[in-house]
Amino acid sequence: MEPLLICTDLDRTLIPNGNQPESPEAAARFAALVAHPEVHLAYVSGRHRGLVEEAIAHYALPMPEYVIGDVGSSMDHRIAGNWRRMIEWEQRIAPDWAGLSHDDLAGMLADVAGLRLQEADKQNRFKLSYYHDTTLDVAEVQARVAPRFVEAGVRARMIWSVDETSDTGLLDVLPASASKYHAIRALMGVTGFGLGNTVFCGDSGNDLEVLVSPVSAVLVGNAQQSVRDRAVRQAAEAGYSGQLYLARGGFMGMNGNYRGGMLEGIAHYQPQVLAALSR
Ligand SMILES: [Mg+2]
Repeated sequence: MEPLLICTDLDRTLIPNGNQPESPEAAARFAALVAHPEVHLAYVSGRHRGLVEEAIAHYALPMPEYVIGDVGSSMDHRIAGNWRRMIEWEQRIAPDWAGLSHDDLAGMLADVAGLRLQEADKQNRFKLSYYHDTTLDVAEVQARVAPRFVEAGVRARMIWSVDETSDTGLLDVLPASASKYHAIRALMGVTGFGLGNTVFCGDSGNDLEVLVSPVSAVLVGNAQQSVRDRAVRQAAEAGYSGQLYLARGGFMGMNGNYRGGMLEGIAHYQPQVLAALSR
């Protein structure tokens, strides 16, 4: 088998913690694939590394080599059983916030009605996270807040998504050059993986940028229809429809949700994994 880098979102992509069921054989098949020495695994999550480790323990997930955490604003490498923070990445994204802190940016948004700060363990140096009602006029808030950042010399990225299990809107404010997509491209650069041997899997709003990029991407079958529609449209606009695979189920008898959908899409791009899966 040729080397392969699998980058995957966790919640409701690798972790079957959504409303739909996962095929019972999917977890063991995925574990068997990533146990192959040529398969390299990176988790790409909104969670910080500690919460990723909790998920690994709680859901008995395979141990990855890399964790891109905090929606792309932190990166860790696992070496000989220990995590090493890849501080080069933080040094690269830090200038976007012009020396301002997480709390400084929170102060700039304090008067925006409808935004509620998430819990302390969901915040980080370069990740400012809010809850909001799904009825919030996202475009209006974005237009109102953007000039404040410009005035402060801050280049910020605002990522909006929805947690369908609780019907809660989520907002992550990040350095403009930090995102799942940018972090994955940086990791590909560091590890020497290219577009021909990297596959990304995701399900929701903060995965969208990768789903519509030149990186081969899989949208799992349990994704919301609105995400599927946006991904299909934006990938077509960007000319990357061939790099977006929509899992539909039926692969090896699985339903296309979560790991079953991931395996279906990975096999679509990398038929070589079929041999590893059918052993
Ligand atoms: Mg997700």
